[in-house]
Amino acid sequence: MKKAVILGGGESGCGSAVLAKAKGWKVFLTDRGTIAPKYLELLDRYGIDYEQGAHTESSILDADLAIKSPGIPDTAPIVVKLHEQGIPVISEIEFAGRYTKGRTICITGSNGKTTTTTLLGRILQAAGYDSAVGGNIGESFAYTVATTDKAWYVLELSSFQLDGIETFRPDIAVLTNITPDHLDRYGYVFQNYIDSKFRIIRNQRPEDYFIYDIDNPVVSREVALRTPALRMLPFAAQHPYGIGTDTSAFDRPGAFLTDGDHFRASVGDRTVTIDIRRMGIKGIHNTYNAMAAALAALAAGVEPAVIADTLYTFEGVEHRMEFAGCVNGVTYINDSKGTNVDSTWYALDSMRTPTVWIAGGTDKGNDYETLKPLAREKVKALVCMGVDNAKLIASFTGVVPAVYDTHSLADTMRICAEIATEGDTVLLSPACASFDLFKNYEDRGRQFKAAVQALQKR
Ligand code: ADP
Repeated sequence: MKKAVILGGGESGCGSAVLAKAKGWKVFLTDRGTIAPKYLELLDRYGIDYEQGAHTESSILDADLAIKSPGIPDTAPIVVKLHEQGIPVISEIEFAGRYTKGRTICITGSNGKTTTTTLLGRILQAAGYDSAVGGNIGESFAYTVATTDKAWYVLELSSFQLDGIETFRPDIAVLTNITPDHLDRYGYVFQNYIDSKFRIIRNQRPEDYFIYDIDNPVVSREVALRTPALRMLPFAAQHPYGIGTDTSAFDRPGAFLTDGDHFRASVGDRTVTIDIRRMGIKGIHNTYNAMAAALAALAAGVEPAVIADTLYTFEGVEHRMEFAGCVNGVTYINDSKGTNVDSTWYALDSMRTPTVWIAGGTDKGNDYETLKPLAREKVKALVCMGVDNAKLIASFTGVVPAVYDTHSLADTMRICAEIATEGDTVLLSPACASFDLFKNYEDRGRQFKAAVQALQKR
């Protein structure tokens, strides 16, 4: 019996372990930290051997295959040792892809993945497809393949998941955009991160679809350099593809604005026209996400009317520009998932009232230069919320009228309540990861929403 070693005991690792066991592998799961109780229960239920708190080399380096969770970097000593021993190290996505005949729609990009994936999942559901949403969100791909294999999978893929792909091939690949993120995991070399994102198309065949944001300068430059021989479906919401300019663009496959309020998405002889004003999700970034989801759904054969209906009723995902409450005429917005500079750029761009901006956390090699014009125009005060706010303070002092240095949510909220006046918006869009003061971005967003509710009750 061949042996599979699983590195990491979270959603991805435990899903891989269950699938490997179901497919007849001898399985050993190892996690250097602690495994959450719900996963321990799962491993016990499936009779899977595991360890936590250590990586015991003698139980790991005799494997035929290693499946690495996306959170573990390639530079981790145990991964280096596996490579040295010549043991293949793959990702959960690669592994699960080997055991399903289901068709896959895979979404990657720096921002917009979860929104696009969730929206597309809803469209397929509404169309009655036998489908599941997974990857980076919800249940892992591997666990779904092991338990209820589906005809269609909509998978959100991070660059870390793409790094471990060898033969995996999406039927439909979506690249929402590429802007600098996670540079700490890519040797601070942007091109490494770009190459990782483009792994999504590396095994695609000419009959497969590639949906990509042609407005994004990095994506359009890379597409021009790589000239992929695929069914290409670009989308654009800006000049010169939009508003009444190059009308020949409208007849091409892809999604383009037809005027300021509508876009048309076309794949083959299927077309859907969307009134952007009727969409539940707002902002130009969500027009991009809607275009990407509409194209993917058309490519998957969904009826245009189902696509339009879902786009009009979809309200967005928690922690993404989510309305958190209104206190004394001040609107509070929870964009805790704004964890990099580009996502916060879109958050600030969508502000229509004077803004008290809460930012800060764990810096990922951020360059705040691009945010300065928007901050100058829209932000009346920046409240920094992190263990170390030095870089933010240095970047925005003199750019916005007031900068505050806080190290807890309680202090942040107290200052916001003091300085925000009727008609203002308090925007939590940190442009940073959350691990200094919070467990994760969800924890940060939920605590923020609870604090807003507490203000309401005062
Ligand atoms: P991801 O899963 O890629 O992190 P999300 O859909 O969770 O993307 O959105 C993350 C953040 O990025 C949110 O703050 C959201 O407002 C912003 N955002 C969403 N879509 C886009 C987009 N297409 N371009 C830029 N920012 C976006």
